[in-house]
Amino acid sequence: MTRREKAIRKRNIFLGICACVLILAIALVVFIIWAVTKGENNQTENSSIDSISSDISESELSSSSDTTSYTQEAPHGLDIEFENLLVVNGWNPLPEDYDYEENLTTIPQKYIKGSLTKIDKDIWPYLQAMLDDALAQGIDIGVWSPYRSYDTQKMLFERQVKKQIVNGVPEAEAEDKAATVVARPGTSEHNTGLALDINCANDSFEKTKAYEWLKENAQDYGFVMRYSKEKQEKTGVIHESWHWRFVGVKVAREMNDLDMCLEEYVEYKK
Ligand SMILES: [Zn+2]
Repeated sequence: MTRREKAIRKRNIFLGICACVLILAIALVVFIIWAVTKGENNQTENSSIDSISSDISESELSSSSDTTSYTQEAPHGLDIEFENLLVVNGWNPLPEDYDYEENLTTIPQKYIKGSLTKIDKDIWPYLQAMLDDALAQGIDIGVWSPYRSYDTQKMLFERQVKKQIVNGVPEAEAEDKAATVVARPGTSEHNTGLALDINCANDSFEKTKAYEWLKENAQDYGFVMRYSKEKQEKTGVIHESWHWRFVGVKVAREMNDLDMCLEEYVEYKK
């Protein structure tokens, strides 16, 4: 091989390497452009997914507020505006001479599961409609303890005080201890005729179909579960799944929607 041929061969190898490097460089540039464009596409896809999901949550919100609309009609044409926001609790007692007797009506025996039968006459149509509709759907439901007179409450309270003393609680503390189990006379909602215990007065109620049904439907008849676990501090009463209080259809729907107990709601409305 002559020197000239050697030089040509060297040049050819050099040119070959240059061509390879150029091709690799071009391939790299093409790859980078492709990767960048793909990233942008993904971003557009993600943001369109975001907008779809925000659309969904907006439509879900509007449809859920449709179903919980406070002004939606109530079953049996019940007046949704009628309300009673009387607050009776440990620090808002009824006066000792509070006479509720004349505003009471007697609940027909077929709805009764206990021995007491009186309820506020204005709320009876709401309670009756609720019981009728639940019974028609095969729910085992009835009135355990509705209105209790001041005297009945006093008797229950004094019985509880005695029980505490028998159980070894010092006399000076017995009343306070009893008050954690039975409301002092005049501080029980049962003294108003606006509340009732349904089926029984113990925690087993929470596991029944009646409880499930009430959680779902009671607000449409103006009733709320008065004492929830979460609001114990506000109501001063332990959780009672069986104790339901009439407040009014619109009010009950709004209270549930706002997740407020009666004490909070009355404050909120001031
Ligand atoms: Zn009760």
